[in-house]
Amino acid sequence: MTAPVRTTCPYCGVGCGVVATPGADGVGISGDTAHPANFGRLCSKGSALGETLSLEGRLLKPRVLGRECGWDEALDVVAQGFARTIAAHGPDSVAFYVSGQFLTEDYYVANKLMKGYIGSANIDTNSRLCMSSATAAHVRAFGEDVVPVSYADLEIADLIVLVGSNTAWCHPVVFQRIVKAKEQRPQLKIVVIDPRRTPTCDIADLHLPLHAGTDVWLWNGLLVYLQQHGMEDRAFIDAHTLGVSQALTTAENTAGAVEAVARRCGVEPGAVAEFYRLFARTPRVVTLFSQGVNQSSSGTDKASSIINCHLLTGRIGRPGAGPLSITGQPNAMGGREVGGMANMLAAHMDIERADQRRAVQSFWGSPHIPDKPGLKAFDLFDAIHAGRVKAVWIAATNPVVSMPNANRVRAALQKCELVVVSDCLAQNDTLAHAHVALPAAAWGEKEGSVTNSERCISRQRIFLPAPGESKPDWWMFCQVAKRLGFGAAFAYESTHEIFVEHARLSALDNDGARAFDIGGLASLSTAEYAALAPVRWPVRAGSRDGGTAPPPLLSDGQFYHPDRRARFVATVPRGPRGSVDEEYPLVLNTGRIRDQWHTMSRSGKSPRLMAHLPEPFVDMHPQDALLCGVRIGELVRVVTRWGAMVARLRSSGEMPRRMIFVPMHWNSTHAADARVGALVNPVVDPVSGEPEFKHTPARVAPFVVAWQGFILSRRPVSVVDVTWWSMARGVQFFRQEIAGRRVPGDWSAWARRQLEAEADADWLEYIDQSTGVYRAAHLIDDRLEACLFLSPRPDLPPRAWLSSLFAKASIDAGDRAALLTGVPADASADMGAVVCSCFGVGRNTIDAAIDKFSLGTAREIGQKLRAGTNCGSCLPELKAMLKERAARAAV
Ligand code: SF4
Repeated sequence: MTAPVRTTCPYCGVGCGVVATPGADGVGISGDTAHPANFGRLCSKGSALGETLSLEGRLLKPRVLGRECGWDEALDVVAQGFARTIAAHGPDSVAFYVSGQFLTEDYYVANKLMKGYIGSANIDTNSRLCMSSATAAHVRAFGEDVVPVSYADLEIADLIVLVGSNTAWCHPVVFQRIVKAKEQRPQLKIVVIDPRRTPTCDIADLHLPLHAGTDVWLWNGLLVYLQQHGMEDRAFIDAHTLGVSQALTTAENTAGAVEAVARRCGVEPGAVAEFYRLFARTPRVVTLFSQGVNQSSSGTDKASSIINCHLLTGRIGRPGAGPLSITGQPNAMGGREVGGMANMLAAHMDIERADQRRAVQSFWGSPHIPDKPGLKAFDLFDAIHAGRVKAVWIAATNPVVSMPNANRVRAALQKCELVVVSDCLAQNDTLAHAHVALPAAAWGEKEGSVTNSERCISRQRIFLPAPGESKPDWWMFCQVAKRLGFGAAFAYESTHEIFVEHARLSALDNDGARAFDIGGLASLSTAEYAALAPVRWPVRAGSRDGGTAPPPLLSDGQFYHPDRRARFVATVPRGPRGSVDEEYPLVLNTGRIRDQWHTMSRSGKSPRLMAHLPEPFVDMHPQDALLCGVRIGELVRVVTRWGAMVARLRSSGEMPRRMIFVPMHWNSTHAADARVGALVNPVVDPVSGEPEFKHTPARVAPFVVAWQGFILSRRPVSVVDVTWWSMARGVQFFRQEIAGRRVPGDWSAWARRQLEAEADADWLEYIDQSTGVYRAAHLIDDRLEACLFLSPRPDLPPRAWLSSLFAKASIDAGDRAALLTGVPADASADMGAVVCSCFGVGRNTIDAAIDKFSLGTAREIGQKLRAGTNCGSCLPELKAMLKERAARAAV
């Protein structure tokens, strides 16, 4: 075992500290008790990081046109391709599309190369899809992209409003901090504003299930209410803000009466009034908002309407009060710090300000910096489609899955003259279109820094060797810069050199003019950078006082517009851009699920993370299912004007009428036809350019098949002759759900072909010709190799017990006898569908324990089975199970 290494989780914007301990049996993962974001806690995804580090599926060598080659050749092809394109068509004919997964140092170098040396601002990032609306709203209100609140503020607030955020699943460690604060201070009130009744509502005192996209009406109404009830902080407004009258007039004109607001938002008037009363009477209020606000064609106005209410009451820059934009990605904020988006410069400077451009250009010693923003993500792929951008480098992201109207993105890449993709995987939807594929070092193999949602800079550190010829992204960009003739400006030997340059730039012409200033870190030695503890910015030169205590950002009422005043923004409510109609009567909402991350390149490798929700699904209200003629548990087609996909129908109880939810994660590696991005309406917010992922008119229809089934196998099976499939990794097996339209004449021969079983294999089978049911199992030396279950109906046996047989070196006579029934002779051997991923506890086990020990609370379940005692992400599900049972018992 080697020494433990302190690093940072590569998943969400909470930015938890992780301790990684490489050993003979893999890498041990635990939470870093000293990290101020999580104090030792990790969620299910963070806890399972050790399961995601295998080299399976990794890209280990550069490839040009599918042929493996050396770095020199690949980099020459990239540099020559970019140089040729720039020479022929100008700098705006090339682009970089990068990622919130990038480390700050990767981002810094890519941004410097594109803006300072290539001379275009065509660098954008998948963070555009996540929080660019919040960023735009910060800049409009504060004069700078500043998040004034820390996680510690949540613990001293008296009211927390969670808007458009399934915090329980998407930012679980922050959610657990809120849960704990509420346990300690039950008077802490929680309001959840979300169309869905998500697991986050588990702790809500009040849930407002507003219609998607109506937030601005709700917040404008609150602004009016606060003013009418004398809650304005007049001294603060007069001394530190501008624009209150216009904002109030617009709010009054659009949302002047509670009843009208309630009607527009589709919420009970009493609930709206209760929210307004709570907000009005609670000075310490934090409004935490996320993608439900940002991913909208009016996302910037939604965020501005929230900020307006904090400005009106002066509840900003004070302990336990303020707006908190929580980001999806681990380094969305670090990317913004270096200016890694098309409309930014660097170090929170403005690309459209000549003085700041000149300052950065002189600091970099660069030939030119463009004076206008570049193409934002959506426009960038449009420009590729139109042939205006002819060479693109896509790094650490998979836009063919994650972008709206993703089939058009795929078509754009098919046409593009030069597509370079740097990724740690050998295969994904975007790599399929790469002319050049560059192997990137992954988490644990590279180092640098990230900034989480509360402005805390943490180090990611190396604890594994980079495999094959993989390299960090910053190195690749430097190598290409060198080949383009810019070697002197990109002669970095380490991330330390990049970081201190970035820190120096942040202090350039600053002197308090910009909040983002880490000049105090510019003189870090290599050893100090290596040992850097988490630190919140600003860290101005001579201060080094960042530490974990919230710095008094905005507490003096000094904002970052030139006059130091904040701006109210008059927000005119606008509904979503696509309306439902007879053909598309439902609203498609997309988002994350508890145990998956983005397009599953890392989380999809973990059996325990795949166990919770192993198939692509669409969640729907049961009455809407009836109206659409589809049944829970069956496969359905989700169709929009832009595309279609197939998924299993479920009804979690979370959905309001006329809305469906589909997770964003599934891709062509994990399912035949489940890229929800292909269905999403390609409209964007006019200010931020963030797409409308939460509101696409859609319909749901039956997906007619002749049979469906599943295969469990020790090896991934290349299924043939099926209409639909999805794949999930389990412990020592792969699970494939399949369905088909063609009925083979000979099921037995068909099954043997799928499972590659020899004629003399130990083969069990069951055929019921009259019902069309077929089941088979293949064993080698009494060890289960694979099994296959098919039926014309979805009445297939549960998968949990059959899956558990793969953990056995050999199965006994009882298991063998029960194998083709799909259920064990002893019912207690079937743990049921996984509820607690951390400890692998299933629904049947929990149900049995509740009965046997008369368990009445989630805490008691935890004491008996450990479920819910690690990350706590499954606690809402445990409570829901208890509630369901109590309801059944009461009937
Ligand atoms: Fe990672 Fe979970 Fe923490 Fe997010 S909440 S940073 S996914 S451990």
